[in-house]
This record gives sequence, C-alpha cells and structure tokens, in this order.
Amino acid sequence: MNSELLIKNGRVIDPTNKVDKVCDVFISDGNIAEVGKVDKEAKDVIDATGKLVVPGLIDMHVHFREPGDEEEETIASGSSAAVAGGFTSVVCMPNTNPTIENETDVEYIHRKARQTRKTHVYTMGAITKERKGVELAEMGFMSEAGAVGFTDDGDGVQDPAVMLRALKYAAMFDIVIAQHCQDNSFVSDGVMNAGFQSTVLGLPGMDALAEEAMLWRDIQLVKKANVRYHSQHVSTTGSIELVRSAKKNSLPITCEVTPHHLLLTDECCEDYDTNYKVSPPLRRQEDIEALKAAIADGIVDALVSDHAPHLQSEKELEFLAAPFGIASLECALSLYIKALIEPGVLDWSGLIALMTSRPANIIGVDKGTLSKDKQADVTIIDPDAAYRIDVNKFRSKSRNCPYNGWEVKGKVEKTIVGGEIRYSANGL
Ligand SMILES: [Zn+2]
Repeated sequence: MNSELLIKNGRVIDPTNKVDKVCDVFISDGNIAEVGKVDKEAKDVIDATGKLVVPGLIDMHVHFREPGDEEEETIASGSSAAVAGGFTSVVCMPNTNPTIENETDVEYIHRKARQTRKTHVYTMGAITKERKGVELAEMGFMSEAGAVGFTDDGDGVQDPAVMLRALKYAAMFDIVIAQHCQDNSFVSDGVMNAGFQSTVLGLPGMDALAEEAMLWRDIQLVKKANVRYHSQHVSTTGSIELVRSAKKNSLPITCEVTPHHLLLTDECCEDYDTNYKVSPPLRRQEDIEALKAAIADGIVDALVSDHAPHLQSEKELEFLAAPFGIASLECALSLYIKALIEPGVLDWSGLIALMTSRPANIIGVDKGTLSKDKQADVTIIDPDAAYRIDVNKFRSKSRNCPYNGWEVKGKVEKTIVGGEIRYSANGL
C-alpha cells in the first residue's frame, strides 16, 4: 500500500497505553507507526488542533437487518452509518432472517462487509437454532468462521438446562456468551416498563424482575460453567446490583448499557410515541441513577448503541403492535457525551475506554488501542462542536430515533479504518 498519514497536534487519548496528551499520530501502511512528537514528513497530513484523536470506536451491539430485512438496514447502509458515528468496528446481532446460526451465515456477513469497505463488521452467532431456545446452534463452526460471541438477542434463552449446555460448550472455545436477559414468564405481552406509568397508560408492562430473574439464574450457571458471560443492555437497579456482586466474587461477567437507558424514562411513553418502545423497556429515573453510579464505579464494561432500525410504516402502528427498537448509531457518541461527560460521570479517558479497549477485550479482537504496529483504526472528534440531531441526514435507512431535534455536542470529524479515511465530516 505504501501510504503515510500524519495526524498532528490532536489531544491523543489511548486509555490502554495511559496516553492523554497533545501530540501526533503517524500511520504508515495502514498501521500505527508512532504516537508522540513526530518530526517526519508525510504524504497526507491532518491538522487535529483542538480535536480528540482516539482509537476507533467499537460498538458491540448493532442490528443491520441483513439478511432478511434489507428495507430497514443493510450491511452497506449500516456500515456507512457506523463510520459517520465514529465507529471503526461493529458487532452485528444474529437475529436476522434467517438467523445467523452456522458458518455460512457468518461468512455471508463478512463477505458483505468486505464489499462495503467502510467499518470492520463482526457478528455474533445465535446460541440456539432459529433462536428458539431448544437446540444449540453450530457454535463451534461459527467460532472457527470468526463469530465473536453468541447470543439469542431479542430473546433470552428461557430453559436453564439449554443455557447451561451453551455455556459449557462456549467454554471450549473461550468465546463470550451474551444474553438478552428476559424471563418471558414475567413479560408475556408487555410493551413498556411495568409500573405506575404503564398503569396510567393502560399498557401491559414488562417487569424489571424479568431481566433480573434471568440474570440471577445465569450467574448461578456461570459459576458451574466458568465461561465468559456478558449481560446485554442492563437497565435496572437490581441488574446492576447483581453484576456488582458477581464481579466482587470474581466471576467472569461483563455488562453493557445503551444511551436510551441513560437518557430516557418510561414517562417518555406518555404520548404513545412508538419511538420510545424498546426492549428492555425504558425504566425509571432511579434506574438511570443506578446505571450512572455503576458506570462511575467501573462496573459497566461497554457502551453500545443497540442500534435497532425499523421501517416508519411499522413504527406508525399502535404502541401494542409496533416493533421494539431505537436507531441511534450515528448519534450514539454525542448521546454518551450528554449522558456521561457533561454531568461529570466519566472523564474522556473513561468514556473512550468503554467505547474501545474494553468492548474489544470482551469480544476478543485485537483492537481498541493506538499501540505501535496495530491496524490504524482512529476516530477524530471535535468534542465541543454543537449540532442538532436530524434523522433526515442519517445514512441509516431508518428514522426511528426519539432524539431527533436534540441539541448535542461532539462531532465526528474523521473516521480512519486500517489507515484509510472512510468518513470525513467535510466529505471525502
Ligand atoms: Zn437485546
């Protein structure tokens, strides 16, 4: 390739290497060659004065809807949205149509991503065939094909015996099992958080216990199987307490949160606006406070978007019938700045770690740092640039985003993948 790119005078934040200082980043042939004061000349130079220069952001929970629902999102459209949001790596969930459940399915995702050439696209495979919770999917073959974890996301694995078998099987490959914790017996036809608001609105509720009961059960299973386990989109005070105590007992358990569970509550559902219909549902203010406290304490391991695009025609259905999900990949970074940096829950280094190195460790990919000789995935951010979220500018095919019109900060200036500028705010 023989290319050189010099990023000058940015505030370089690389939590793994404990770097947070104004300096330069020199990229040669697609890899990080030097971080520090660089006196070399380069063919291409970016002046990053006043900007943050960080390892490329990683989102370990997105839904790109391909195969099966390409009208909502494709790997190409989702990848364009990803780089516009500063993400150089994403992990697709396997709840597509058909389900990602064997090595051919995994290879299909990788092939589509290669053709798109935007962001790195990884995928998790399903834990059970067709996510029915009965028969284990071909986890071994999927692992060999490059799946970075397993989940039946969208549903939790209901049968504890099946879940235990899955955990023991995954332990053989040292690959993470991720769970959408939801015990369906506490949810049935629920569409929002169970509580005062659901009663007022006359909508069937989803009890916090549904999440907590499955998480508690899984923690007991993890003790038996001793495998890495990841609790997806934790949303309740009780879940946080469970993760906190599991970590205290040194169990190999990690967890993630979403922007919506930090910024929105079940009161948002009062106008029956289906853009607020999401699973797990929006909870209460006190749950937001518990999540933020856990983030400040280091209990939370990853910040994700859970980007879940849907057609407008589907979201226009009544609240009971509309699908669950919020599309937020392009504004996730700004939402996290609003939720965590602005109120002082995290500093920049803490935020970047939760969006780079820590999720990289969970999914076992050699990314998320600016270490010498690593592939040069770099995001350049203008931290103070204010803008208004406008869904009509999304590269995503979907518009189901309740943050439309919000004033936020933190603009992605450039997204560099493998040393190549794949997104630039002023056009390529
Ligand atoms: Zn989920």
